[in-house]
Amino acid sequence: MVINLNIIKNANKIWLFFLDLIFPIECLGCGREGEWLCDQCYREIKLKPKQYCLHCKKENNLGEFCAPCSVIYNLDGVWIAALYDEILISQAIKSLKYHFISGLSETLSKLLIICINKILEQRQVLKSSLTDGVNWRTLNQAKKLPVAILNFNENLVIPVPLSKKRLRWRGFNQAELIAQKVAEKYNLKLDNKNLIRIKHKKPQAKLNEIHRLENIKGCFSWQGENLNKKNIILVDDVVTTGATLNECAKILKANGAGEVWGLVVAKG
Ligand SMILES: [Zn+2]
Ligand SMILES: [Zn+2]
Repeated sequence: MVINLNIIKNANKIWLFFLDLIFPIECLGCGREGEWLCDQCYREIKLKPKQYCLHCKKENNLGEFCAPCSVIYNLDGVWIAALYDEILISQAIKSLKYHFISGLSETLSKLLIICINKILEQRQVLKSSLTDGVNWRTLNQAKKLPVAILNFNENLVIPVPLSKKRLRWRGFNQAELIAQKVAEKYNLKLDNKNLIRIKHKKPQAKLNEIHRLENIKGCFSWQGENLNKKNIILVDDVVTTGATLNECAKILKANGAGEVWGLVVAKG
């Protein structure tokens, strides 16, 4: 059994190497050779200027669900780097997923890193302003900062898993490739084993929000030890209603997780 799995893994690696050879590396934006997205085109990508409550779209600094919306979610909030309407973003995600260009995961993870840095800046501003003596306004603001941001270095990164069937077809989980780079950057622990997808859901695209929530129920399972209040950053490439992230958050919290935040490249 072990030998078979290794053969499959190696075959995937060879296949990906082969794809890189037959498809010339050229910029998705301008066609310049050598990179999947050249610096110039990369800089033209418009990032989401502000985060918002994913449910009612009211803008805020941290992407948390606002009080009335939070009661229907297990997830604490979602950090979104860009909108899927950004043509280079949608092209990059599609190329990563459907043309198996795994090299694009690096490009997309950079967007997530910019997004996280912006979120973390708020923690740093608060810390530095507090050192000049107690400023009650900033102190009160600090109290409102989510634990996942205050104790960012303690967070655990988990990619949204694919079903075995989908993983076999694609050869890699795009969310995992992106999550690995984010975890490396911030020296966070990555867990890519214990959250698993046990059911293959029907395609979500044509379903409305309520049906999506129903469709995704029972699709995930946690195989690991109790998470013991650890805060989780759940990484995925695209979020639409948040049904998938929320279902993962439900399972993680049932297994002891503290806060669970989504981190996604694009809002579809
Ligand atoms: Zn370019
Ligand atoms: Zn809201």
